[in-house]
Parts: sequence; C-alpha cells; structure tokens
Amino acid sequence: MDFKFDFQEDYVVKEIIKKKCKKVLLQLPEGLKMEGSRLANYFENKTSAEIVVSGEPCWGACDLALDEAKKLEVDILIHYGHAPFIKRVDFPVLYVEMNDLRSIDKLLNLSLKTLNKYNSLGLVCSVQHKHQLEQAKKFFEDHGKKVIIPEKKGYAHYDGHVVGCEYNSLKTITNEVDAFVVIGNRFHSLGAAIAVENPVYLLDIYNNEIIEMSKYKDKIIKQRYAAIEKCKDAKKVGIIVGTKPGQKFGSFKVIKDKFRKLGKEVIVITMNEINSDKLTNFRDINCFVELACPRIAIEDYGRYDKTLITFRESLVVLGDMSWEDLLKNGLI
Ligand code: SF4
Repeated sequence: MDFKFDFQEDYVVKEIIKKKCKKVLLQLPEGLKMEGSRLANYFENKTSAEIVVSGEPCWGACDLALDEAKKLEVDILIHYGHAPFIKRVDFPVLYVEMNDLRSIDKLLNLSLKTLNKYNSLGLVCSVQHKHQLEQAKKFFEDHGKKVIIPEKKGYAHYDGHVVGCEYNSLKTITNEVDAFVVIGNRFHSLGAAIAVENPVYLLDIYNNEIIEMSKYKDKIIKQRYAAIEKCKDAKKVGIIVGTKPGQKFGSFKVIKDKFRKLGKEVIVITMNEINSDKLTNFRDINCFVELACPRIAIEDYGRYDKTLITFRESLVVLGDMSWEDLLKNGLI
C-alpha cells in the first residue's frame, strides 16, 4: 500500500525544545507503530530528551496512554494520528495529526459518474484528510452540486470531521442532502452508513475506488439484530466497563438493575483491551454489554465466541428502545 503521511517531525522537535521536555512518551496508532524507532531516534538526535515509545495498542485519541505516561514520569505524551477527543485531560499531551499526502484528484474525477444522480452532498472526512475537504467541496460545487460540510458535534474536533463513534454532525443535515461522501477509509464510512439512512459513498484513497456502503451496512444490521435477540435469552449478563480514558459509552448503573428485573444474573467487569480470550474466560456469562468503544461490538462480530452488544443495543434488550428506533437514530 502506498504510504505517505506527514509526521511533522520539525514541529515536534520545536515543541519538545520549547516545552523543555527531558522525557517523552511517544504513542502511535497500530498501523504506524513501525515508525516508532525512526521517530524516537530522530527526536533524540535533535533534542536532549529521552524518548520512550508505547508498545501498547492505540485505537484512537480515546486511548491516550495516560497511565503509562504517569508511571514513567515523562514530561509530555506525544500522541500521533488523531485530533483531541477527550474534553479534559489531566496530563500534558501534544496531539500530532498527520495529513495523508496522497492526491485525491483522480478519485474526485472518478466519483462523478457514481454521484451523478445526486444534486446535494454531505461531505465529511477522517482527520488525515481534513486538508482536502475544501478542495473536494469546490470540485463538487464546480460540477453543479450543492455541498454541505456539517458543523462539528460531540467528539468531532473540526467541521466535517468524523470519528468512528461520532456521527451526530451528519444527523443534523440528513434532510438537506441526498447522499454523504466520506473521504477516508472503510471504518469511518461504514460508521457513517450505519449512523444515517442516506446513501453513503467512500472515496477510498487506499484502493482508488468509490464504494457505496449499503451492502456492508445491511450485513452489520442483520448481525446486530441477531446479537440483540441472543442477549434477550441470556441467563447471565456481563457489563464491561472500559478503562481506556475516553471510552465511556453509557453507565452500568442505568442498566444493571434493569437486567436484574428481567430475571438475569448480572456482573460488572472492568477491561482495558477487550478481546475474545478475556471474554471466553468468563465461561458462565452468556452475553456481554460493552460500555467501551461501540465499534468493538459492532465491527468485530464473529471474532468472539460470546455475544457482545453496545450500551444502546442493551436498551433494546431491556425494552427501553425499539429496534426500529435504534435503526432510525443510527446504531452509533
Ligand atoms: S471509535 Fe472507538 S477507538 Fe475510535 S475514537 Fe471512538 S471510542 Fe475511540
């Protein structure tokens, strides 16, 4: 795969020197961990700081390595690849967003044939492409379309910015646009597709193609319906409280007693990283409700032997929300 990101090395060097940092923890997303040694060496050569690279998984800016940074007593956590997400952080963090430097010119031209049938488009992107949003807007407007970049909402840091668990900005303009266009990857466009009812198209810069997301959405919806139905039959429910700093979606206090009233046994469990082995160890539990990242349950269906649902989906099991309303409001 073509790989062209701007790591902003000189900006980071300037910040380390300006902030007089002696010890730094560097955190990179999973796909960019291989850049850790290069970056650490570069920063150590250009500054007097000692650089430590976090080897723990990092899935988003919700996943700041704050505990590691505090234990190591570093002066700053440098977090690569995401925009700020957690509203209040009690530790110095430098977020380094990375622009994807590949051109989208060809993709835009390619998309015209597919998007021909729409007069109005909602335009959004993952943070790596925010520098290309205005270019895409102008391109579609020059080809006669009305284009709306939705105002940021919730966890989104910029207008038109989507995060895997935050699509509320799209929901504010669903009546004003015929379809949505996402510049980015399958993860973000699938999230958009299951959050709104309008058609969603991915401008897939990784594979140079335009992808309509409805077939992927339909598959997910069938899986989610099946998971919710299985949870209705569960005798024992585990509620997983995530311990990553920004992964708090729903409260176990809201649902714990309600599950008990349905006659189910309930246990509250904490987990930092949720994986199949950890769930399997709880042999007596039939269904888990996870209050960490909602995409763990939605995206990773099939990776787990146990049934795993989100907080919002648990409301359907409890009868507090209908399946139809969940779909209407979006699974995310
Ligand atoms: S989708 Fe999940 S991993 Fe991504 S920012 Fe949201 S909570 Fe974090």
